[in-house]
Amino acid sequence: MIGPDKICAVVAAAGAESMWRQLVSAAKESRTIELRLDWLADDQEISRFLAKLAGKPPNATMLATCRRRSAGGRYRGSIAKQLVHLTDALRAGCAWYDLEVESASLCPPELLDVVLGQGRRLVSAHFFKAMPPSLSKVAAKLERDKPDGVKIAARCDSLRECRKLADFGRKRKNLIVIPMGDIALPARILGLRENNGFAYAPVENATAPGQVDLHELREVYRAASLSQKTRVYGVIGNPIGHSLSPELHNAGFAARDMDAIYLPFLIERLADFVESIHPLGIKGFSVTIPHKERILDHLAGCDPLARQIGAVNTVAVRGDGKLYGYNTDYVGVLETLKKRVRLRGSRVLIVGAGGAARAVAFALAKAGASVCICARRQKKARVIAQAVGGTLVDWDRLPHEFFDAIVNATPVGMHPLTDASPLEARDLNCRLVFDTIYRPRMTKLLQLAERRGIETVSGVEMFVAQGVAQWEIWTRKRAPVEAMRRAVFAALRNEEKLQKTK
Ligand code: NAP
Repeated sequence: MIGPDKICAVVAAAGAESMWRQLVSAAKESRTIELRLDWLADDQEISRFLAKLAGKPPNATMLATCRRRSAGGRYRGSIAKQLVHLTDALRAGCAWYDLEVESASLCPPELLDVVLGQGRRLVSAHFFKAMPPSLSKVAAKLERDKPDGVKIAARCDSLRECRKLADFGRKRKNLIVIPMGDIALPARILGLRENNGFAYAPVENATAPGQVDLHELREVYRAASLSQKTRVYGVIGNPIGHSLSPELHNAGFAARDMDAIYLPFLIERLADFVESIHPLGIKGFSVTIPHKERILDHLAGCDPLARQIGAVNTVAVRGDGKLYGYNTDYVGVLETLKKRVRLRGSRVLIVGAGGAARAVAFALAKAGASVCICARRQKKARVIAQAVGGTLVDWDRLPHEFFDAIVNATPVGMHPLTDASPLEARDLNCRLVFDTIYRPRMTKLLQLAERRGIETVSGVEMFVAQGVAQWEIWTRKRAPVEAMRRAVFAALRNEEKLQKTK
């Protein structure tokens, strides 16, 4: 509706120079650009930026926004000043201006026509705390003075709310709906499948919760080419922000030139996700903490090995809509360990007793290893030990025991709490330590092991192997393993670089 591209690059900075720098890079990736003038430090900085813009406007459709603080923006000036900046923005080359309903309702429409008549008006309403009870009432208020377009941005606390907002948006031509919040991230992207789909993507600074940055949206998710035909996959978990599964799977789809997308779903209530599978057109999904065991209740069928393990990390949605579960962590563990340890006859300690621990225990036992388990909840550990014919080991016995390998299957040490280790140096009496955590690659536990001269293995290898197996289950094609591996290692290297510069 607003510009030629549905992905709108958002330019927002405190200084005119950095705003200009962002604008130049935005123009390379999108022909629809929002200028968040309210992010500029003061009126002088806004004028400085607009003067520069007037001299050399980019070849793009630009939308000027100078949202006041009362509406969730950063502009501290009066409404009169706000209108002056928007007028200058139109003169400098912007085709559209966004006026929040709080300001619009205080300005007579005739005044807006006189002052801003040459521009196209988008009237917007933002609900940062919760979805409004009646979207129809909000839309009616926004449409009252017949603007060129209206926008409703609302926080969504469930996929059900995201769907409600999307359904509402689908019915009206000149309406843009934007779901906000971390839960809404996949809905924001999937909204681009609609005829009036529109997504704001910051060049550098997120201006609303749940935004994905422009480069990631275009390069990782290939969101510019989304359509109703695009096959949708994803990962469900809580938390999910740390997951590199989107990088892994989307790289696979891109390498095979497949019209498919893989998204991160932050899911608190499994039922909320399960009832959204069909409406969102999801064809398969990965399952991570804390849903690997609970998802079993929602499956119509399950691979016998996954059933035995009691944890599912992969679900395929069959043609009839029924869910079928698998466990590819099992494959990942074996692929990783069998190259380094002769598993038959070895003694291996697993730390933790959750979903990953169960997969590791079954994989090792089936490969002929003698499995020992140590966990803070004895009851859960005992159940696993019994299932695989293994033994329990008390935490305080660890300094006196020897193992061929130790496997960490707890999240202790995982991003962002990277300073923690589930074991101390004195507990590490073994030839090899394998940490199933892959972010960071070098966990505190692996550092302790390395200092003691013990061979270390990062969870990244298991991560790639389990993901490749998932990808092949869903697509029934051979996975482009190298491309997938490269994407994950590149993301991890970038993160490590960023951490060093901090
Ligand atoms: P999970 O089902 O939630 O189980 C986590 C286990 O860790 C539970 O036994 C839990 O004990 C224990 N634990 C949590 N915090 C602890 C602490 N502070 N001290 C001691 N034990 C603690 O999770 P999961 O799915 O098994 O995943 C566990 C880890 O495996 C995660 O780090 C995940 O990233 C990793 N993983 C990696 C891959 C890969 O491909 N590399 C694949 C799967 C999993 P309670 O039951 O008492 O809470």
